[in-house]
Amino acid sequence: MTRERPWEMPETEWRPLVERVRAGRPLRPKAWPDGAQAALALSFDCDHETFELGTGRAAIGRLAWGEYGRRRGVPRILDVLARHEAQATFFVPAVAGLIEPGALAPIVEAGHEIGVHGWIHENTSLLDRETERDLMQRARDALAGMTGIEPVGHRAANWDLSAHTVALAAELGFSYDSSLMADDECYELLSDGQPTGLVEIPVDWARDDAVYLLFNREPPTRPWTPPEAVFDIFRREFDAAFDEGGLCQLVFHPFVIGYRSRIWILDRLLEHARARGKVWLPSHAALADWVRKAA
Ligand SMILES: [Zn+2]
Repeated sequence: MTRERPWEMPETEWRPLVERVRAGRPLRPKAWPDGAQAALALSFDCDHETFELGTGRAAIGRLAWGEYGRRRGVPRILDVLARHEAQATFFVPAVAGLIEPGALAPIVEAGHEIGVHGWIHENTSLLDRETERDLMQRARDALAGMTGIEPVGHRAANWDLSAHTVALAAELGFSYDSSLMADDECYELLSDGQPTGLVEIPVDWARDDAVYLLFNREPPTRPWTPPEAVFDIFRREFDAAFDEGGLCQLVFHPFVIGYRSRIWILDRLLEHARARGKVWLPSHAALADWVRKAA
């Protein structure tokens, strides 16, 4: 809902809006496991065909584009991660998993985490509380059924949260959310001023491949940043985190980064990270557990 005349809102109105979801205590550990100097948390959002289906459309060409993510993107990513002995988290909309459940097996067998990413990549802010709760529960159950592992992580599709998302994720027993942007480092989420116990592993548009590389014909977005520039931005994010002894979290999409001209960005970044010193490369679930205990 957009307010016509926001300057007329009294504090009794704007303060509760701000307090619905807010950053609570910082979860910045004094040390990382095994003497690592920094943490690099990689995530891959496997939207695949639901990037299109979740908008209510089903253009054949755009579904094929999603298919590319599963057929070529994910295998290339798994290959790079294996070569650098990195763990990562794959956020999967339930329908993107159900289209071809066997495609999740190589991800799970390599020890990576699968997290919830909506039912069909729907925009959460469009849902009423009951529908959102039902979809969140069903998405988690569907992924658990396909992989044999109950997901503990949640990422809202399009990072679009309703006023209820954080409270529902806490209520359903998730360990962490990774859809918000209030810090570089992890923090505990507050819901209406109350601690939820839910860890936030913050994302940011600056650390998302789609911002720089995702071409859309309609609506027309053509943010074609050269791959070298994308690598440079991510490397700077990592280097600064390394110097601070902190966390660098990145978001990739198999149908964005998985191309022959781009996959090297991930490869080179991991090479660079390993060359700088001791770096921890955990799944988001392992990261959430560590910061919760160590902070
Ligand atoms: Zn997504």
